[in-house]
Amino acid sequence: MIGGMDEIDRFCDSFLDDSHRAFREAARGFAKQAIEPHAYAWEEAELFDRGLYTQAAEAGLLGPSFPEAYGGAGGDVFHLLVSTEALIEAGCTGAAVGLGSLEIALPPIMILGSEAQKQRFVPPVLRGERIAALAISEPGAGSDVAGVRCLARPEGAGYRLNGSKLYVTSGVRADQVTVLARTGLDPHAGLSFFVVEKGWEGFRVSRALKKTGWRASDTAELAFEDVFVPTTHRLGEEGAGFACLMQTFLGERLYLAAQGYALAHAAWREAVAYSKAREAFGRPIAGFQVIRHKLADMAARTLSAKVLTYQCAAQVRAGSCSPAQVALVKNEAARAAEWVCREAVQVLGGMGYMRETKVERFSRDARLLAIGGGTSEIMNEIASKGLGLAP
Ligand SMILES: Cc1cc2nc3c(=O)[nH]c(=O)nc-3n(C[C@H](O)[C@H](O)[C@H](O)COP(=O)(O)OP(=O)(O)OC[C@H]3O[C@@H](n4cnc5c(N)ncnc54)[C@H](O)[C@@H]3O)c2cc1C
Repeated sequence: MIGGMDEIDRFCDSFLDDSHRAFREAARGFAKQAIEPHAYAWEEAELFDRGLYTQAAEAGLLGPSFPEAYGGAGGDVFHLLVSTEALIEAGCTGAAVGLGSLEIALPPIMILGSEAQKQRFVPPVLRGERIAALAISEPGAGSDVAGVRCLARPEGAGYRLNGSKLYVTSGVRADQVTVLARTGLDPHAGLSFFVVEKGWEGFRVSRALKKTGWRASDTAELAFEDVFVPTTHRLGEEGAGFACLMQTFLGERLYLAAQGYALAHAAWREAVAYSKAREAFGRPIAGFQVIRHKLADMAARTLSAKVLTYQCAAQVRAGSCSPAQVALVKNEAARAAEWVCREAVQVLGGMGYMRETKVERFSRDARLLAIGGGTSEIMNEIASKGLGLAP
């Protein structure tokens, strides 16, 4: 079941205007018709239909907060939040995050790219014609971004790129990959962004990875062997990569926090509906106080994660959010998602352990949130610094 306002939505409604509400309804309509009927099959197949990209683009759901000049919907961060809620509710987080890989792959192009690069690499992605992925993590460098070893060595009118990237969301099908590579010795100032295109000699997908959750999205290990990257595909000045990445992390972590409360909210709705329909000992299980109180506790955790994320989004929109604040919010939303989805499985009993149910899938999807986009330990490090706790 997708849609409908409940107490949690109502509590957060003051952050939204009519355009957000209308957009949420349109996104829910799309998710119900284009994703929900296929969710189970796509999760089982570990891949969603590629045609979903163009369908989502036609519905205005790809890059809702990107400027209209580049093919976006010209909205703000709340348009992204409400569409994320709707897509996740459909029960196929893999499709939601697969469509969403552009939300992390395009920002470095928008921040560092020339006008020509933006026009070339952004509109085709927002039309759903090309798939974009972001490649930062490597077999030897995840949390420690300054440890990136993928090497871009100057050669003629470009660079020779060598190395590998790991856990790249949408990387198997990507037509363009925004790659962070080393152009200098300094751990931070020696990193630069490039756009590498599918089909270039020496660039290949070395592995499609199998995952616990987010199953309908593809995740790749990528290999770069003497790939020639023309200078036209370097974003900004040499060495601008690390500072840009720190800037984009804010948006990425907020997006992950949104997935957190959205998973919790969707799991809670499923559990409430089940508790009213399922009977035991001659009455609906919602008739047992222990189940009702569990559902009330789940609502409280969901609500607090959602309010925190909305507040954080309002500050991001106003340009007044710190990395520590986003880190705290991401951790809290991730914890809420894991706990609420676990309890939702409990409310559904044996059915909650079956892959055909949304809550089973949500409980696996939620586990990622404490890892992706920076682990909970790294978020606590960032928060500690912001809180003045680090020695
Ligand atoms: C499904 C999925 C999708 C992903 N998508 C992408 C993507 O599209 N693009 C991309 O570039 N990456 C992607 N990632 C990678 C993700 O960002 C990394 O997995 C994450 O940053 C952690 O890095 P790591 O896995 O190398 O863990 P490690 O850095 O090896 O960490 C292992 C453990 O050590 C802890 N640790 C490390 N350093 C410290 C420290 N200083 N203090 C305390 N504890 C520490 C970590 O918290 C963790 O518990 C994805 C990952 C997954 C699982």
